[in-house]
Amino acid sequence: MNNNKIPVAILGATGMVGQKYIQLLENHPMFEVVCVCASAKSSGQKYIDVVGPKWQMRTAIPDSVAHLKINDVFNIREVSSKCRLVFSCFEIDDKDLIQKVEFDYAKTGMAVVSNASANRSNDLVPMLIPEINLHHLDLIHHQQKINNLPKSGMVIVKPNCSIQSFTTPIFALEKEGFKVSQLIVSTLQALSGAGYPGVASLDVIDNIVPFIGGEEKKTEEEPVKILSKATDTKLVLRTDLKISATCTRVPVVDGHTALVSMKFEDKIPTEQEIKDIWNNFRSDVKEFELPSSPAKAIKYIEIENRPQPRKDRDRDKGMTCTVGRLRKCNVLDYKFVGLSHNTVRGAAGGGILNAEVLVAKGLVK
Ligand code: NAP
Repeated sequence: MNNNKIPVAILGATGMVGQKYIQLLENHPMFEVVCVCASAKSSGQKYIDVVGPKWQMRTAIPDSVAHLKINDVFNIREVSSKCRLVFSCFEIDDKDLIQKVEFDYAKTGMAVVSNASANRSNDLVPMLIPEINLHHLDLIHHQQKINNLPKSGMVIVKPNCSIQSFTTPIFALEKEGFKVSQLIVSTLQALSGAGYPGVASLDVIDNIVPFIGGEEKKTEEEPVKILSKATDTKLVLRTDLKISATCTRVPVVDGHTALVSMKFEDKIPTEQEIKDIWNNFRSDVKEFELPSSPAKAIKYIEIENRPQPRKDRDRDKGMTCTVGRLRKCNVLDYKFVGLSHNTVRGAAGGGILNAEVLVAKGLVK
């Protein structure tokens, strides 16, 4: 093991998001995967033996991980003894149990960076898109106090993958004084967002499924939390932004698209102002010069038939949100199309960026 790197575990390492973590963390300058965890049925076996047949990444399983023995997610003491940070992306039906497991890890001194939805509605758990709400990390000390966590223990979460393709563009406009009051969003979500094996091929080839369980509620509520202010003891949830969402599953492998109409509260920017704000957007997190931070968090693309998942999802290591087709809306003020890579920016890449932020801010040492 490289002693300069922070040893990390992945809870749910055999799944779609876990595999993406393993791919993105190969040769990462700050983190080293020392422990891979999954369900009891996988536990005790070599990673390559369990995952080899269902590995979905376009690069090979890294040698440093292939021969690790899988641990059970619930072996909290043993896993914690090997690392300082855990990426949580395991999936079970009992969300209360996921909440408890993540906080149990935090109680052993782990920083938990979670992709699961279980802790997202907890007001003291920052739901971080660092380009937007870095200041929500001020809540961590209070979270530690209320939950009796040691100084190194904490839980932070990433939002749902459906919202990355429009929330940062909305934030950029609000940052420049153009408050948004209404959003009507239709998402076209990729198959990898449903995990492995996910949606049956006969249900989705030559088809669109106009329902994804639980997704519309998350798409309507999570941007509101992220775009709210926080003090160091509480989240002050805003009430002036309403979102209506329709979420669909489409036969695309990676890359969630959002079709968005937006209404401004009072001041309405011109089309050119919106494009300039998006293309010139620079967030405070850039100052940290983090390995997973994209050169541009938002890219406006002028080509009339873009963004498209296959052509635009990988922009800047899959971490940039690509927007296009800005035009007037006959019902609200403007409409546009947004796209982001769901397993990179929307899952593992976003989780890694959040962990890098924790290190940069001295919350993880
Ligand atoms: P997935 O492919 O179905 O993987 C599920 C993982 O959970 C596997 O590692 C599995 O291990 C583990 N697991 C299943 N039952 C378990 C149990 N009883 N105890 C412990 N571990 C268990 O799902 P995914 O797409 O990677 O999603 C994982 C999480 O990330 C979910 O909460 C999901 O909502 C969230 N997320 C996904 C995406 C995306 O784009 N896919 C984006 C954002 C967030 P075994 O192999 O041993 O069964």
